[in-house]
Amino acid sequence: MEMFKIGCHLSASNGFAAMGRQAIAIGANTFQFFTRNPRGGTAKPLDEADCAAYNTLAAENNFAPAVAHAPYTVNCCSQKEETRKFAIETIADDLRRLEYVPGNYYNFHPGSHVGQGEQVGMEQIAFALNSTLTKEQKTIVLLETMAGKGTEVGASFEQIRQIIDMVEMSDKLGVCLDTCHVFDGGYDIVSKLDDVLERFDKVIGLDRLKAVHMNDSMFGFESHKDRHAKIGEGHLTLDGIVRIINHPALRELPFVLETPNDIDGYAAEIKLLKSLRK
Ligand code: FE
Ligand code: FE
Ligand code: ZN
Repeated sequence: MEMFKIGCHLSASNGFAAMGRQAIAIGANTFQFFTRNPRGGTAKPLDEADCAAYNTLAAENNFAPAVAHAPYTVNCCSQKEETRKFAIETIADDLRRLEYVPGNYYNFHPGSHVGQGEQVGMEQIAFALNSTLTKEQKTIVLLETMAGKGTEVGASFEQIRQIIDMVEMSDKLGVCLDTCHVFDGGYDIVSKLDDVLERFDKVIGLDRLKAVHMNDSMFGFESHKDRHAKIGEGHLTLDGIVRIINHPALRELPFVLETPNDIDGYAAEIKLLKSLRK
């Protein structure tokens, strides 16, 4: 039987095994978490026993890969050198730590070029990846599709393609499609889902697509606002979301909710999406 890979963002404060148990409790088989304080820098000390406990639990319960999300303070194409350096150090440290839970994903926002221009931004993002990816790593790094808010890089499939093309170990790279962001960024996944995915395939290649951030959007098409809404309460509409989770090009991917919810709200959305899976 084909597995529906569905989960949500969870708090990492009690460790990996606790997130695994919480996922099971709410009917999930994948989840996302911040590798460290989303607005800060320092990570908790690595707990190898906790990682091992999670690996066992994930294998026993047939988990899909989990998604580790880099903190928002990571900006590989800041105009400030120290910020770019912090981004590289953080990514390198996160990737080193993720080797204790091998086979999962590491998702990051490509960055905001802050006036330096798209081209410089893309080059600096590629530089950060070339400085951190290793041949041995068992984590695939995902570039998240962005809403194009401010000077965000990665709101167009072409930009993501160009970044990938500048990275030497691009076999370690994938893409995470954020449904709120792409709709916000000017891809009409509500009325032209087939066309958008065809475009994705032509420009990036669907084989790169590894995960979906399943969010509704508070604002309308091409609004560049990046405000997530609960499932069925935004401009993607419940019908639009039903088409996304069942689309042949997407249905086997892990779907991770990043909707404005507490844990009970997430459990309810997971239940709802399961009931709408065909
Ligand atoms: Fe994100
Ligand atoms: Fe996202
Ligand atoms: Zn967002």
